[in-house]
Amino acid sequence: MERIIFLGPPASGKGTQSQILADRLGLPNLSTGALLRKHITEGSEIGSLAKPFMDEGQYIPDELAIRMTWEWVCLNSEGWVLDGFPRTLEQAKKLDALLTDSVKVIYLDVSLDQLQSRILSRLQCHQCGAVSSNGIHEKGSPCHRCKSGKLLSREDDNEEKFKNRYEFYQRLSEPLIDYYQSSGRLISIPSASSSEEISKLIFQSIQYGKAQI
Ligand SMILES: [Zn+2]
Repeated sequence: MERIIFLGPPASGKGTQSQILADRLGLPNLSTGALLRKHITEGSEIGSLAKPFMDEGQYIPDELAIRMTWEWVCLNSEGWVLDGFPRTLEQAKKLDALLTDSVKVIYLDVSLDQLQSRILSRLQCHQCGAVSSNGIHEKGSPCHRCKSGKLLSREDDNEEKFKNRYEFYQRLSEPLIDYYQSSGRLISIPSASSSEEISKLIFQSIQYGKAQI
């Protein structure tokens, strides 16, 4: 069974692509962002510890991220796809120390220019979380998936917030690229013209075991 980690800057499409790959491989997919929001809604201990950091738009402490993710990983020992963990070198090293199985790392290589134009046009359903963009659907139109929600700009999709998230990524997450590259586990996926094309590249590279692109 595969154990796959998604790596990439904010708005690189990690959420969408990890879900597509997980569905295709029949594996559970963990979005740490969604799990965190669930913990906060339910008022769990993890949720109350994480909330102040989430409110400030910061990464939660390594220890907390590891604890939350490891709980989930232990419940899904047959294989998985992770989106949003590890986010720091410390988290990646800890995961390696805990895991006895090998992992593959999909890195979505998207340039800053591409990211910026993408976030400004991104729309998301406020009910089911489906993602679209201005070119495909009009802002405020009914959701193409659940039909009851509305497609709106994401709250964190303004330039100021994006810049903030990108700086966190550069400082804390970018070192992971080298970390996984130097241990031969990184599969780098170049930006392609469509989401479908990227899904295809990802699926092929997982099948071949190594990047063939
Ligand atoms: Zn919807």
